[in-house]
Amino acid sequence: MTKKESYGAEAENNNFENPSKENTVLNAKASDSDDFVEFSTKERYIQKYGIDPTKTPVFISYNAYRRIVGYAMRYGNDDLPQRNWREVYGILIGSIKDNKDVIIKDAIPVMVGGRAYVEYKSKHYVDTAEFNTAIYERAIQDNKEDFFVGWWHTHPGIGFIFSPRDIETQLFYQGVNPYAIALVFDHCQKGSKRNYLGVAGIRLNNPDRGMFATYSNAIKLKCEFTKEEMVQKVEKDVKEINKSIKHTLKQIEYIDEILRKKALAQLQRNFGLIMVLKRDIKITADEEEAEEDDYFLYEWDPDIDKKIYRIPKFREKIEKELKKYEDILIEIKKTDQAANYKKKKEKFSKKIKEMLQKPNDFYKKIIKDFTKRIEIISPLYDYLDTDERKIIEHFEGRSSEYQKVLDDLNARSEFNL
Ligand SMILES: [Zn+2]
Repeated sequence: MTKKESYGAEAENNNFENPSKENTVLNAKASDSDDFVEFSTKERYIQKYGIDPTKTPVFISYNAYRRIVGYAMRYGNDDLPQRNWREVYGILIGSIKDNKDVIIKDAIPVMVGGRAYVEYKSKHYVDTAEFNTAIYERAIQDNKEDFFVGWWHTHPGIGFIFSPRDIETQLFYQGVNPYAIALVFDHCQKGSKRNYLGVAGIRLNNPDRGMFATYSNAIKLKCEFTKEEMVQKVEKDVKEINKSIKHTLKQIEYIDEILRKKALAQLQRNFGLIMVLKRDIKITADEEEAEEDDYFLYEWDPDIDKKIYRIPKFREKIEKELKKYEDILIEIKKTDQAANYKKKKEKFSKKIKEMLQKPNDFYKKIIKDFTKRIEIISPLYDYLDTDERKIIEHFEGRSSEYQKVLDDLNARSEFNL
């Protein structure tokens, strides 16, 4: 595969800007000389927002840089065959300092897109709408005070050109925030004279022109450390990632396939505590499909529940026992037979605890296994994308639903009425 072929896909769609890598330098020059043609538009931008989109600098923390490179290198590096290189996308979190500099504190990996060239329009292609939705979801979840100051994606072997899709995405960002920056990473450019970090900062010069906007791909990037230190440090981190990424991903797969789909599903089957909405009951062997519409309820109200929910046998049995014993104890309490009350209470407590023994042990075993897996995953957690993080969150969600009911039943087994 020659270099030239590798530009094809993105370039093909790019009717507005220079498509090829050979032209990247020319392209940058063209943007500069465009200043004359677009003088009024850029001036308007400066007047309107008080910043020059081509010059307002960007500060990159090492934290953001290592996450960009670390995630990107999973899908594009010299050890991978070029035909397998894929673009990745993420968001930039930070702030605007003194109404001037853009400070990038974090770069969160969001998703892997299509192959960097050929099949650009295949189903793997991440369309802008999907990407923007993912961004909003992450932005809402992930940042409290800082906000998203831009986005990042990779062009493995393609260089720092903007495709029409990229312009579209950047229009969205700059429309909301005139400082918004796009960082593009190309590992092939790392160590180069012009882009030593392998990163270019890109902004539209004249977003008023919509899809016909031009862009600058030479925004000044300031770093937390010297450029040499940044690259040196990141190469060390990438080494660690390469060493353990496979093992890490195996743990995630284990959490999904074994712990959630098998162990948790079996726990609910044998010692069902979570109630399921009746209309959504699906007769299916696929637990994953069946649980999508699950509805969880913690309060016990059999009159209403039976109409609406499928009540697991185990839950029904233990709730009935609890109710029975609670009623007896309340009656004894009224007669003020302290000794009898104590004896009965101990007996009932023992019975319920015996019933709960197996689900308690089973649940503890699952959680112990999960914790072990998380310990392996955590050093590389920062380089996982949304889908991968979601698997962990999904398991946590499912297991905590079960735990809530179990905790409640354990507490009630003490009969502290
Ligand atoms: Zn792109």
